[in-house]
Amino acid sequence: MIADNLKKVQSRIDAVDIKNQVTLIAVSKTKPASDLQQAIDVGQRHFGENYLQEALEKIQALKGQNLIWHFIGPIQSNKTKQIAQNFSWVHSVDRLKIAKRLNDQRPENLEKLNVLLQVNIDDEPTKSGAKVDEIDELVTHFENFQNISLRGFMCIPNPNNGEQSFKKMAQIMQKYPNLDVLSMGMSADLELAIENGATFVRIGSDIFGKRA
Ligand SMILES: *Cc1c(COP(=O)(O)O)cnc(C)c1O
Repeated sequence: MIADNLKKVQSRIDAVDIKNQVTLIAVSKTKPASDLQQAIDVGQRHFGENYLQEALEKIQALKGQNLIWHFIGPIQSNKTKQIAQNFSWVHSVDRLKIAKRLNDQRPENLEKLNVLLQVNIDDEPTKSGAKVDEIDELVTHFENFQNISLRGFMCIPNPNNGEQSFKKMAQIMQKYPNLDVLSMGMSADLELAIENGATFVRIGSDIFGKRA
């Protein structure tokens, strides 16, 4: 089931006619390690998790399989240390304090932590993410940190204006030639996101089924 679903999602990605390479991140929040193992068995390596505690359990249960873990959920300050110790990527950094803590807490023996600045692209009061007019200053600050590497942006547009918001995010990205990753697109809108420049797509329910 999960293997078939993954194949279907990969075909949808491959069917979009674009030049850039797209990385599929399997979003496995609330799903047991045995479900992730089914995906691993057919070659999936990138996994996205939202909740630290259950993520740590899965990282432990599945270790030794060369997996790449992405933290994609909201971040409270008291969680940064374990995120810095256990993940390769963090998509949901939206303020300076969190970036600084991740930088200070990234273990010396690990490669730089790859960070994306989450942007509240539609300026929705209920959503996390930096405001568009804060981006410039945050990018400058983030680029000064030694143990994190700012790679790009993540956004979760309002579904009502997905296309417009993906375009807006991609346009902002063009102002920063050093950045190479745009994380946008979920199960319902991955094609639209890729057409508009996404390089990472985060797919949950279309791979693992609906969440409770
Ligand atoms: C849950 C989640 C996803 C996956 O959403 P689906 O609609 O299940 O594909 C992607 N990104 C973030 C930030 C999420 O929290």
